[in-house]
Amino acid sequence: MLVSLIVPCYNEEESLPHLYSALCEVREAESSAGRTFEFLFINDGSTDKTSEIIKELAASDPCVKYVIFSRNFGKEAAMYAGLEKAKGDYVAIMDADMQDPPSLIPEMIKSLENDECDIVAARRVTREGEPKIRSFFARCFYRIINKMCDVEIADGARDFRLMKRIVVDAILKVTERQRFSKGIFAWVGFRTKWIEHVNTPRVAGETKWSFWKLFRYAVDGIVAFTIAPLRLASIAGFICAAAGFIYMLYYFIMAIILQIYNEVPGYPSLLCFILFIGGLVLMALGLIGEYVGRIYVETKARPIYIAAEENDKE
Ligand code: UDP
Ligand code: MG
Repeated sequence: MLVSLIVPCYNEEESLPHLYSALCEVREAESSAGRTFEFLFINDGSTDKTSEIIKELAASDPCVKYVIFSRNFGKEAAMYAGLEKAKGDYVAIMDADMQDPPSLIPEMIKSLENDECDIVAARRVTREGEPKIRSFFARCFYRIINKMCDVEIADGARDFRLMKRIVVDAILKVTERQRFSKGIFAWVGFRTKWIEHVNTPRVAGETKWSFWKLFRYAVDGIVAFTIAPLRLASIAGFICAAAGFIYMLYYFIMAIILQIYNEVPGYPSLLCFILFIGGLVLMALGLIGEYVGRIYVETKARPIYIAAEENDKE
């Protein structure tokens, strides 16, 4: 039984040694049960010593495999590369910063072996140590996306999960370029068991996600999984048109039938309406643009990542 552990790394020189020793402990504890491991480090274009560290580890430990990207392609691309390269019967994805506790892995393996489920995923039940505003927007995001999408994306779900081979193959079939893995994991289905844990702060270094990056990620997630915003735009358009029609009818009756004319020029109300409708039209256009932009990117069909170097290549 081979277990692959995929670790996307972007400027993680400080956390990697901690993670590696924690992973070795897990390996040691599990080896008695006949389980072998491969550690797959995906270096996502780090500008620090991450790739040197990974290569050193690989030189001394045959279980360490790596892919080094030619530049920063993002965590989503790194996870995809890892899933492609993984040979394990069970495959896990985990962060390099120890925010995904490696100590949960034995429990996860057990759940899969007892065939309780096909995926064991971790979920944070607290968001302590995270800026309040960030938690607030994260909660809003999950509420919105779950209202709009058919697939259920759990609040606090991390990318940390252990999957059976069948699930990995299903995920690899989803080859879209602008990937939103949390959604893809939910979309492929299968039986998922959730393990809850409290938020653990990073062991070293700092988060790579700025607020703006997270916002883009949220928009990507929504656009990737639902066309509900487009529908919303047409509903808003319909409501505006209906209101305009009723307004017109009102003036028609006033002027033609009741012979009441409005002498006030009505400049402010006119301006308000023009601004309102103009805003709506532009917003709808922007929305359509988001989707058209995606079509553009997807039709170019560029590879999801470019590897500059990797070991153990077939
Ligand atoms: N990561 C990556 N590419 C990126 C950004 C992040 O591979 O462009 C990796 C990073 O090295 C870490 C994981 O993704 O292993 C999660 O990143 P981070 O800890 O910064 O995110 P957070 O835990 O704050 O959500
Ligand atoms: Mg982290």
